[in-house]
Amino acid sequence: MKDCIFCKIASGEVQAQIVYQDEEVVVFKDLNPQAPTHLLIIPVKHIAKLDEASKEDMALLGKLQLTAAKIAKDMGITDFRLITNNGKGAGQSVEHLHYHLMAGRRFLWPAG
Ligand code: 5GP
Ligand code: ZN
Repeated sequence: MKDCIFCKIASGEVQAQIVYQDEEVVVFKDLNPQAPTHLLIIPVKHIAKLDEASKEDMALLGKLQLTAAKIAKDMGITDFRLITNNGKGAGQSVEHLHYHLMAGRRFLWPAG
């Protein structure tokens, strides 16, 4: 989608520190990391947020989670947080579905 920063990262128009990419999923380092490891997992397809995904996205949503788990495992990370903020009130600032994969520090529960 035009004017979407994460679509631009997925297409290569905007640079990011990409750690994994295939035809459906891109994983890159967060510009403003909130943990020693802070990656963003996004679909190449523009979906604004989780509650705008549809039944046809079911396999893609599963792939995002499995990709996050595989990357964590490949990095030797066993304890991590996988978070998506759905809507501005929940902290979403970029309107392209993304999961934060965070690790390397203690996390509070309940999440702040
Ligand atoms: P949200 O607040 O929407 O859940 O998360 C958006 C995340 O995207 C933030 O953690 C922010 O640091 C990150 N971010 C925003 N713009 C860019 C960018 O251009 N490049 C990268 N690598 N991360 C970005
Ligand atoms: Zn987008």
